Amino acid sequence: MPELPEVETIRRDLEKEVVGRRVKTVEVTGMRTIRRHPNKKAFISRLEGERFTGVVRKGKYLVLKLDGGEVLVVHLGMSGQLLRARSGREPIEKHTHVVITFTQGGQLRYVDPRTFGELFVTSPDTLADEVPELAHLGFDPLDDVMSWARFGEQLQHRKTKLKALLMDQRFLAGIGNIYSDEILFAAGLRYDRSSETLSSQEVRRLYRAMVETLQDAIKHRGSSLADEQYRDLFGQVGDYQTQHKVYDREGQTCPRCRGPIVRVKANGRSAFLCERCQV
Ligand SMILES: [Zn+2]
Repeated sequence: MPELPEVETIRRDLEKEVVGRRVKTVEVTGMRTIRRHPNKKAFISRLEGERFTGVVRKGKYLVLKLDGGEVLVVHLGMSGQLLRARSGREPIEKHTHVVITFTQGGQLRYVDPRTFGELFVTSPDTLADEVPELAHLGFDPLDDVMSWARFGEQLQHRKTKLKALLMDQRFLAGIGNIYSDEILFAAGLRYDRSSETLSSQEVRRLYRAMVETLQDAIKHRGSSLADEQYRDLFGQVGDYQTQHKVYDREGQTCPRCRGPIVRVKANGRSAFLCERCQV
């Protein structure tokens, strides 16, 4: 599932490639992707004629602003891709559910083999009602500034195991299975350390690891895994998977101590770590 670095990479691409363009026509195949709308017309009529004026990220959601005042919300789910086509003549990929054609030519296409993702148009005022997760979204480790002291107070207060806490969208927006493991390795902390037991030095280390890991992942345009389907707006895979230190590296060598990377089960999920380097 795309996490913050992948969604942010796509957001930056959309800003360059899609903002400023006006929608000429919209084609939708099936209702699954636009399931929040009663029918295709209810989705299409709110997009046609609109111009994209901006794009923001809220956690793992993309919110594209329209000049009429509404927003197009995109959640990529497990396998969704937004792809820019230079012209309508480029071959349509299998599992293309939505095609938006711009007045200046070119298209934005939504492809999603597993169809967990979705697109919908709504008013900014009702967005939080439509997606309750957004109403209670925690702080954004890239966009929101928080002092490490305040971060430490929150860790004290939550008393939760670190991996579960990093992945809790009400605490922190946009982090999932991959980046929680990579952040905890960079910080030298175990997945099951309880958050209130961290020393102030460890709090600072965790905060710095979080920001640096996410920024580094964006620099590498996100992670594309063999079994998942993250692509950027141009259909290219990310490169950060080559930089992973622990995620999906069970049995490989820890780059820091040369010990083994292990995989453990925690709350039905896997966590990857080095038991020597992470305390
Ligand atoms: Zn190690």
